[in-house]
Amino acid sequence: MSTAALLLGALPAAAQGGAAGGALPSLGEAGEMTPLAERKLGDAIARELYRDPDYIDDPVIGEYVDGVWRALLAGARTRGELPPELDERFAWQVFLGRDRSINAFALPGGYFGLNLGLVGVVRTRDELASVLGHEMSHVTQRHIARLLGQQSRQTPLLIAAMVAGAIAASKNPQAGAALAVGGQAAIAQQQLNFSRDMEREADRVGYAVMSQAGFAPQGFVSMFQKLQTAARVDDNGDWPYLRSHPLTTQRIADMQQRVQALHLPPEGTDWETVLVAARARVLSRPGVDVLRAWAGEPAQPDFARQPLAQRAGALYAAALARAELRELPPRRRWPSGWPR
Ligand SMILES: [Zn+2]
Repeated sequence: MSTAALLLGALPAAAQGGAAGGALPSLGEAGEMTPLAERKLGDAIARELYRDPDYIDDPVIGEYVDGVWRALLAGARTRGELPPELDERFAWQVFLGRDRSINAFALPGGYFGLNLGLVGVVRTRDELASVLGHEMSHVTQRHIARLLGQQSRQTPLLIAAMVAGAIAASKNPQAGAALAVGGQAAIAQQQLNFSRDMEREADRVGYAVMSQAGFAPQGFVSMFQKLQTAARVDDNGDWPYLRSHPLTTQRIADMQQRVQALHLPPEGTDWETVLVAARARVLSRPGVDVLRAWAGEPAQPDFARQPLAQRAGALYAAALARAELRELPPRRRWPSGWPR
């Protein structure tokens, strides 16, 4: 069966806005897409993503993200934020995208996209947990189901955009694949425009879930600060996350209230994240010039004066950049007295 037909297979349930035969008990209000219909739609999108070479399966970053993700899922279960029906029916799977832009997004059916660009700017597991907890909460709170249910008239357009991307992909595997992902990302960001209330709810629930899972609230605060700083300087669209999750003054006020009572100890160095973030930056294909610059970074005169964590990340990035450039390192010079 063709891709277009598979995608269209999800159409009737989606277009009916939740009346998927009535075989399943509905979780929420009328007008919400049922979990089954949402999962079907998500599966159709996931099939495309699996095929896409820009969604990567890197064992190191994958295991790191998976560890954070599993802890969040466990936290959501403990807090009762993950209803058993959704737990069972949805995929709860994160796709790692090679894209350099800073973004993470929730897709229907418990699928999530996480760009290497975002992994490349986090400093701690807690920061990543704050973003993933927020995205997870858009799904557990049925925000996507509500949007798709409410916008049932627009849903055929949404499906059509995906079909167009899928057809282009099947005609021209290289150009088409990029188009398909672009189309899906556009859907995630434009069609699924969460309301301000939904954003605040995802902040509140996500914060509770990450705290339950044992992540430090500092991560929530520092990620927010990072987004605020980026919002002031981002003119070239490197932070699509900001467009889909605008930092309203209400969200900022909520966040400040949440952490006011906390006395936050200074953050320690999260070595694993330092290295994973360096790896994500290199694997996001920043281009030959940037890779060369990173490969040469440890040889810069001021390198030794940088903080230790920064140097560790830069050394790892340099080694990986050389591998990407297929440059063999210069012949090793062992310090005298070292075993050979
Ligand atoms: Zn959001």
